[in-house]
Amino acid sequence: MPRLRPILDELPVYRPGKAVVAADGRSFKLSSNESPYGPLPSVREAIAAAAGEVHRYPDPACVRLTEAVARRLGVPQEHVALGAGSVTIAQQLFETVGEPGAEVVYAWRSFEAYPLLADLSGVTSVRVPLAAETHDLAAMAAAVTPRTRMVLVCNPNNPTGTVNHGAELRGFLDAVPEDVLVVLDEAYREYVRDPGVPDGLTLYADRPNVAVLRTFSKAYGLAGLRVGYLVAQEPVASAVRKTTVPFAVNSLAQAAAIASLEAEGELLERVEAVVAERARVREGLLGQGWEIPPTEANFVWLRLGGRTLEFAERCAVDGVAVRPFAGEGARVSIGSPEANDAFLSAAADFRAANTG
Ligand SMILES: *Cc1c(COP(=O)(O)O)cnc(C)c1O
Repeated sequence: MPRLRPILDELPVYRPGKAVVAADGRSFKLSSNESPYGPLPSVREAIAAAAGEVHRYPDPACVRLTEAVARRLGVPQEHVALGAGSVTIAQQLFETVGEPGAEVVYAWRSFEAYPLLADLSGVTSVRVPLAAETHDLAAMAAAVTPRTRMVLVCNPNNPTGTVNHGAELRGFLDAVPEDVLVVLDEAYREYVRDPGVPDGLTLYADRPNVAVLRTFSKAYGLAGLRVGYLVAQEPVASAVRKTTVPFAVNSLAQAAAIASLEAEGELLERVEAVVAERARVREGLLGQGWEIPPTEANFVWLRLGGRTLEFAERCAVDGVAVRPFAGEGARVSIGSPEANDAFLSAAADFRAANTG
């Protein structure tokens, strides 16, 4: 037996999720926060055109996409680093800061990838419990020690959909030492309608220790192609560009992301429709008697405790796949109106069977 890193024994083996299909054949995937819409015709065309060139390596520096992202955001190109999904960039950040003995602080429960990436990179995870389903920024600042190298703030938070507002976020950034990298994971930024939630891009300009993560996977509907980006000042952005695997962002992803920025108006109309459905789903659940935290993302969170898996099974009967976290709750993505109706109906049946 070759000697492998012992930490690998601690990591879960990936088990492919079974497709959830109802007896009548209906199937709704509300488990991964994907866009319910397929690619726009113009994006498909860009992918098809790029397909004719796949015998060539992609541009390793993503020059055109970097220009397009920088122009769109109004930031210098040197502040942008592209990656094969923002999870990959998060992994690069762990590699960037992860010396032996380093601690990384994040809220819990938050994005499932954080503990995995922390374990893989060899840093020590410091998990700060959510308060009222929301990042407890005061407790997170208090958890920073001289060994802390990075703090991750997921805003809105996956899986609860909750947000942190400007004043508390600025107070938190002021409290964290300048040599600790603070990563604002804004995978769901496009879905935020609460005006009190600051755009991370307004927070990083005068703070060299702040980085913003964004993705084309969710609002832009390119989850299958793997492309996301970081915005930070030059030293951090440059470190991330150094830690990339060569040619990480493939040529189809680069072309599709450029085309998506060109078609942004149409894509953001779709986001608007998801936001409207989000309100309808949340109100439907509240009407059924559920307690649902306000959500600024494209999903809702149901705190079900010990009944979580039972709830997921009930949803599966109606062909609705949700994301259960055993003993805690279920995250349910906002999908098409038909999918959302199927979910609301399953949730109503579950409540009827479990109350009164
Ligand atoms: C979905 C998600 C991402 C995006 O991951 P990609 O690798 O870009 O697909 C990043 N952060 C959070 C919190 C997410 O939920």
